[in-house]
Amino acid sequence: MTDDDLRAAALLHLRARTAAKGDPVPEPLVMAAMYHLPGDPRGVNGYGRSENPTWEGLEAALGHLEDAPCVAFPSGMGAISAALMATLRAGDRLILPSDGYYTVRNLVGQFLEGLGVTVETRPTVHFLDAGFEGAAVVYVETPSNPGLDLCDLGAIVRAAHAAGARVIVDNTTMTPFGQRPLDLGADLVVAADTKAPNGHSDVLMGHVASRDADLLARVKDWRKVSGAIPGPMEAWLALRGLETLELRFDRMCRSAQVIAERLADHPKVQAVRFPGLPEDPAHALARQQMTRFGFLIGLTLADEATAERFIDGCALLQPATSFGGVHSSAERRARWGDAVPAGFVRLSIGIEPVEALWQSLAAALDAA
Ligand SMILES: *Cc1c(COP(=O)(O)O)cnc(C)c1O
Repeated sequence: MTDDDLRAAALLHLRARTAAKGDPVPEPLVMAAMYHLPGDPRGVNGYGRSENPTWEGLEAALGHLEDAPCVAFPSGMGAISAALMATLRAGDRLILPSDGYYTVRNLVGQFLEGLGVTVETRPTVHFLDAGFEGAAVVYVETPSNPGLDLCDLGAIVRAAHAAGARVIVDNTTMTPFGQRPLDLGADLVVAADTKAPNGHSDVLMGHVASRDADLLARVKDWRKVSGAIPGPMEAWLALRGLETLELRFDRMCRSAQVIAERLADHPKVQAVRFPGLPEDPAHALARQQMTRFGFLIGLTLADEATAERFIDGCALLQPATSFGGVHSSAERRARWGDAVPAGFVRLSIGIEPVEALWQSLAAALDAA
């Protein structure tokens, strides 16, 4: 039995710890802009932009999984914006992955550089090479997306802290059930709960987690003053999704291992990236810092037309951007301008029984 097993089990009984007799077993959905507030306003819910009991239910569940207090945001980018606004000021230097989630680079380029933040980008595989001297914030995403390169989180945290920089880790692709950056010393974790944590492709959500109380208070203040708050209904749905994360994520990661191994042997496939393959360049590091190998697979087919025929021809693949849903999905990342071959497909493995999924994938590959 692992710590993840204990966390997953206790998650389903969190509310019982504080429930009063007659309370609903599930988290109630509280839709409120105003609260009943006579007299001294301190210590109770005051206004819907500052407090909402349904967010707090979601944050309690996320906090249980992260083993750290969390602040929920209406999207992954909402969480990332808050983490950067809470840690950067004019004159600071920020180091970003050149091959990470591209909207983060857009956010910084379109808005933060104009406020006096300087930015340096580096590929994930060489993230540590030049050191972090002079940096205020080091922002890491491992595995990178969509290339699935890894970098050594523990070593990056040590080098960044020695240089006086804070470390933010985007843990979206792994979730707390696959990788635990705060345990490796990261200052902030950010994540898009839009992906596997919600898991049903119907809600956007995000969170920031930290064991640094002052830093997390700043993140929460940013939410309150910027007004970037989750809708209670979306928070309620995300919490419902989160309750089955471990079950879904476990199935998705196990299936991805089986499918990656078979894809690697398929004659139509030129290359496969999956950290769980022993021959993958990131495998040794993945074994060291991840507790599962994830559900994303990168595969390279001959060209654009072959890749599109494969995606469109597979009855059990949703052609869609984004990932982490219960349904398997795929897309050709070069269509967004990612620096990958035209025939590169990012495959997100869902919860379909694995033999049925493989049969469908193999038939589409054979016909592509
Ligand atoms: C999707 C994603 C985000 C952004 O999340 P949204 O909910 O779409 O704002 C950030 N980082 C990574 C790694 C993602 O995959």
